[in-house]
Amino acid sequence: MRVGIVGCGTAGAAAAILLARAGCEVTVLERVEKPGAVGAGIILQPTGQAVLARLGLLDEIAAKGARLDRLFLRTREGRTLVDLHYARCDRSWFGLGIHRGALFEALYRTACAEVRVHTGVAIEALRHEGEVVYAGDHGPFDLVVLADGASSTLRDAKVSLYPWGALWFVAKTEAFAGELYQVAERARKLYGILPTGQGLASLFWSLPADGLDAWRADFAGWKRDVLAMDPRAAPVLDQIAGPEAVTFARYRDVRMGRWHDGRVVTIGDAAHATSPQLGQGANLALVDALVLAACVTAAPVPEALALYQRQRAEHLRHYQRMTRVLTPFFQSHSSLLGWLRDWTFPIANALPPLNKHMVRTMAGVSLGMVARPLALSSLPATRVAIADKSA
Ligand SMILES: Cc1cc2nc3c(=O)[nH]c(=O)nc-3n(C[C@H](O)[C@H](O)[C@H](O)COP(=O)(O)OP(=O)(O)OC[C@H]3O[C@@H](n4cnc5c(N)ncnc54)[C@H](O)[C@@H]3O)c2cc1C
Repeated sequence: MRVGIVGCGTAGAAAAILLARAGCEVTVLERVEKPGAVGAGIILQPTGQAVLARLGLLDEIAAKGARLDRLFLRTREGRTLVDLHYARCDRSWFGLGIHRGALFEALYRTACAEVRVHTGVAIEALRHEGEVVYAGDHGPFDLVVLADGASSTLRDAKVSLYPWGALWFVAKTEAFAGELYQVAERARKLYGILPTGQGLASLFWSLPADGLDAWRADFAGWKRDVLAMDPRAAPVLDQIAGPEAVTFARYRDVRMGRWHDGRVVTIGDAAHATSPQLGQGANLALVDALVLAACVTAAPVPEALALYQRQRAEHLRHYQRMTRVLTPFFQSHSSLLGWLRDWTFPIANALPPLNKHMVRTMAGVSLGMVARPLALSSLPATRVAIADKSA
């Protein structure tokens, strides 16, 4: 089977390697001439780690990352909102804080070694001719995988830009080991530090996009504010010389009714980007790639793509819904939502079944309050088998 993949980010590179290993003839088309490491820290959850283990890349990536056993969130005043320990659900689970570049480098290098990767190729349109599809001048392909990220222009989706984004700074620090540490003031302010290994950590700060100029104008005041929220941030703040040293990122919310159309399938952020509130984007993209390769092995295209849709719908829809519901509790001007969160989260945190549910959500395996969670050990084989029976 000839497969064309548009985009060589997390989803595209992982899909390329897995599909090639499943026997497909894969060509990757990437817009950027010399793809390189961009961004700050992300968390690889047990789901993403399971896929990287299948790719044989987990040990290499883990060696460059920082093990996280806990996510801690408190109010500015010091009240614990959530204190989530992976080990409460499964002793083998942990998060892996990693610079996005380290993940990219490992996936990209492996993709280049195992498939044809054409860089500097921006695909502007797909062309269907009978049973095959062309991506720009490239093809013919029996299957085209769109993995061109949240700003894809090639798929049909409802896309909206979140009014809030986040400031990021990558600092040299060995402090904050073992946890993602966050402090919130109502829904208006959120500060966090994510260790990412190799002596680095990413500081992030929530900000509405229309507040960026005011933040720049009162940069010193912002530093004082962060310090008041967390005095341990002092050595990190000392490294930030000025506003230009900090990156502001905005996020898109992408809704698609169906991720496949004939011989074309959309995966990763192009299919389901959300705000990074639950920190799942890269993990969902990796699981997409694994499940797609399994479906393509199990059935001919286009049936394989309908199977893929059934396999991924429950998991993806759940995380999209949860992210949409939770984001305004952390990024909005609403005093009511901040107040509600500050009263309800500590109660949920203290109740063992709800605390465990939150840990499963953080780990990326939740399918809802009452549904049985994803079983990592059988991902994706079991779920393909279940779908085959119900088909
Ligand atoms: C600040 C920030 C923090 C985040 N934190 C987390 C976290 O903690 N945990 C987590 O799991 N996720 C996190 N994410 C999200 C995560 O980085 C993404 O979900 C993930 O990388 C998506 O991968 P992708 O391959 O779908 O898209 P991308 O990585 O965006 O890759 C798309 C690729 O397609 C290429 N491309 C685009 N258009 C074309 C075209 N027309 N032709 C050819 N090539 C094209 C692009 O150049 C790019 O290489 C975060 C994201 C941001 C911005």
